[in-house]
Parts: sequence; C-alpha cells; structure tokens
Amino acid sequence: MATHLCPCGYYNHPDRDCVCAPGVVNRYLSKISGPLLDRIDIHIEVTPVSFDELTARKRSSENSADVRKRVMVAREIQQKRYADSEGIYCNAQLPSNRVQEVCEIDSAGATLLKTAMQRLNLSARAYDRILKVSRTIADMAGSENIKVEHLAEAIHYRSLDRENWGG
Ligand SMILES: [Zn+2]
Repeated sequence: MATHLCPCGYYNHPDRDCVCAPGVVNRYLSKISGPLLDRIDIHIEVTPVSFDELTARKRSSENSADVRKRVMVAREIQQKRYADSEGIYCNAQLPSNRVQEVCEIDSAGATLLKTAMQRLNLSARAYDRILKVSRTIADMAGSENIKVEHLAEAIHYRSLDRENWGG
C-alpha cells in the first residue's frame, strides 16, 4: 500500500514546499485508521530521489543477489524454528500468545520498547508487530538474539503510528 502524507502531496518533499494549512496533514493521516495501520508490519517513508542520487546510490548499495541470499538464510532459520509448528513457517505468522517466547528480548531491549510504546503511544498490536519484525531483522543479520539495534530498527518501521505527524 502507498499513500501521500498530505493532500498536496509534498509533505517532507526535499525540494518543494507543502502548501497544506496547519493541522491538515495530521487530519489527513488520521483518516488512515489505527487498526488498519496496526495490521501493516512495516511503514517506510519514501522521499523522491533525483536522477544523480539514484545513479550514485547504485554503485554503493548492496546488490539484489546479496540481499536475496540474506533473505534465503533468514527464511531457512525460520523454517527450522517453526518445524514443529503446524501452519507457521515465518515470524509474521506467529500468533500473539507465542510472541514472548519466540521474540525474547533482554532488559535493555525491554526498556527501549517500553519507552517507544509510551512516547509513540503504540497499541498492543503494534507491540507484537515490532517484536516479530525485530526477530526477522535479527534473523537477517544471522543473530541468535534480538539485539537493541534490531529492536530500534523495527520501532523505526512504525513511523505512521506516531501521533505528532504534521504537528
Ligand atoms: Zn501538503
């Protein structure tokens, strides 16, 4: 799914100014309902990229073949993890009553998550999504444990839950 962040379409655009009146951006985004956003694992803001940036980026970024390899490894880890769990083959399918057991975090992680939940006013459903996505990020990194950096990345992917958009 994709959406503009405001009616004029230029909110957070690098070169053009958003012409929407104060409060409009917030109201526009609040039309996307919370329960709907809760069901989307990852929110990412994509800003327009110039042609020069695009070509420069191509040289330095990880190529698709390498990313594919990491995804395959993460998939394999998850297949093993859920070998005895009928109907589950990846982290996204994990039912909420098993999230704590599978997505174990240490005390530093718990503190970070608690702060994020309060600051960003996240729902219980968003909480589970963050834990599951952080488990996947850890799998992609080949890490047995969910580290604070994995959790922080997963929290970052909940950007549309934030209530201060366009404030
Ligand atoms: Zn606008």
